[in-house]
Amino acid sequence: MSDHDPGRHASTQVDDGRRRLLKAIGLGSGLAVVSGGALLSTPAQALRTSARIVIVGAGAAGVAAANRLARALDGARITIIDSRQRHLYQPGLTLVATGIWKPSKVIDSNARYLPRSIDWLQDSVAEFDPEASRVLTASGRSVDYDYLLVTTGLKVDYDAVAGMHPDLIGREGIACVYDTPEHAERSWSMIDEYVGSGGVGLFTRGPGGIKCAGAPLKVAMLTEDLARERGSRQSLQMVYNSPGDGLFSQPDMDQFLKREFPDRGIRINWHHRLIGIEPELRRASFATPEGTQRIDYDFIHVVPPMRAPDALARSPLAWQDGPFAADGDWLEVDQFSMQHRRYPNVFGAGDCVGTPIGKTAASVKAQVPVAVNNLIDALRDREMKASYNGYTSCPLITGRGRGILVEFDYALNMVPSFPFINPYREHWVPWVMKDRMLLPAYNAMLRGRI
Ligand SMILES: Cc1cc2nc3c(=O)[nH]c(=O)nc-3n(C[C@H](O)[C@H](O)[C@H](O)COP(=O)(O)OP(=O)(O)OC[C@H]3O[C@@H](n4cnc5c(N)ncnc54)[C@H](O)[C@@H]3O)c2cc1C
Repeated sequence: MSDHDPGRHASTQVDDGRRRLLKAIGLGSGLAVVSGGALLSTPAQALRTSARIVIVGAGAAGVAAANRLARALDGARITIIDSRQRHLYQPGLTLVATGIWKPSKVIDSNARYLPRSIDWLQDSVAEFDPEASRVLTASGRSVDYDYLLVTTGLKVDYDAVAGMHPDLIGREGIACVYDTPEHAERSWSMIDEYVGSGGVGLFTRGPGGIKCAGAPLKVAMLTEDLARERGSRQSLQMVYNSPGDGLFSQPDMDQFLKREFPDRGIRINWHHRLIGIEPELRRASFATPEGTQRIDYDFIHVVPPMRAPDALARSPLAWQDGPFAADGDWLEVDQFSMQHRRYPNVFGAGDCVGTPIGKTAASVKAQVPVAVNNLIDALRDREMKASYNGYTSCPLITGRGRGILVEFDYALNMVPSFPFINPYREHWVPWVMKDRMLLPAYNAMLRGRI
């Protein structure tokens, strides 16, 4: 049962809460949440070195790492490889896809954030050759390194859903929050249309590790909230299709959502993994324990499975067996040090790593200082001391103006940053964070400042 009641928050309470929020941020605990828990700093004095360091992937993790390394090292030859010019603030895509933000708000450029002292090779890595400490690019260049930092993010595996293609987003009732800002905007037009016309709405979630596992849930809850606000809720039959028997990995939040969804009239189909769509017929196929089930829909939120980008997945750097190989050929790092388990001059951070928890910008913020500091310690031939505790955080938006700030670690323990907010109840603070505070904090993270 939701205990949110907007009317309950008298303006004096809000003002008081705001003051306490700002105070907490000023004190640093809030910074931990918007910045991912670990407030590790890089060494005060730059280390003189001529080491060649290659970073593959200029997303959240790669850019943040580039700035930290450039400041911490004097004389290092640092190269970042990525063909992408745009920098996308992906956490904002949920707000674009639900009509709250304009796409332009999440589009920035990597050139604004990458330090001038490093080389940006606008290319993509086609092959990793860790035996030779070398990467080969799509245009045929060979780049040698002493240390490698892998920050390639992940690949949304549209091919795993038969009939699905990103070009379909924004047509025939199909939405997907995990693509470009332009597609997020088209997803919004599908949601807007569905809330107006009603019918069967299918909400899906790929199995295994996906980035921001809260996003599919947020899309469902924000759609429901909008329909209620517009007075059309009765005409929507909303069905959330979980590929397993849970909604969220953190058990307290899982319990909350298992009460919340039925309370809000969102039916849950357990063990329903989306395997195909027929756009013209508006029909989806799900793998279930009873065999393939076909369900007709008016609207569908497609969330395909996710995996390591191809070049990484087929390289020796990927997990060769075990759950992280089966789930998505993720990068084989030690979950605490972020160092590769077989190639000691390789480190990783961000969505590409095979660790039990991660795949949020909040975990990127916690992982990058660990990977960078340990890389520097390895370079100095010193014992690596930095350790990632699995911190991740998600402002689980349950409706416009409210949400739950979910923060937890490898042990799945809740690790709340704000002592004055009950982490099990909806509150306006997570909404304000998501809507106003996380983008500037993310940009400060890119610059390696927090
Ligand atoms: C809809 C949505 C909502 C989200 N909500 C939240 C949230 O509320 N809170 C939160 O903390 N996080 C959230 N996230 C997750 C967060 O955005 C990601 O975890 C974060 O961006 C991961 O950063 P990354 O650097 O690992 O990957 P990315 O930022 O995706 O960057 C990877 C980069 O690697 C490059 N690359 C890939 N392959 C190669 C190659 N072979 N050679 C060279 N370069 C390559 C790509 O071009 C890309 O630029 C959300 C994500 C989405 C999509």
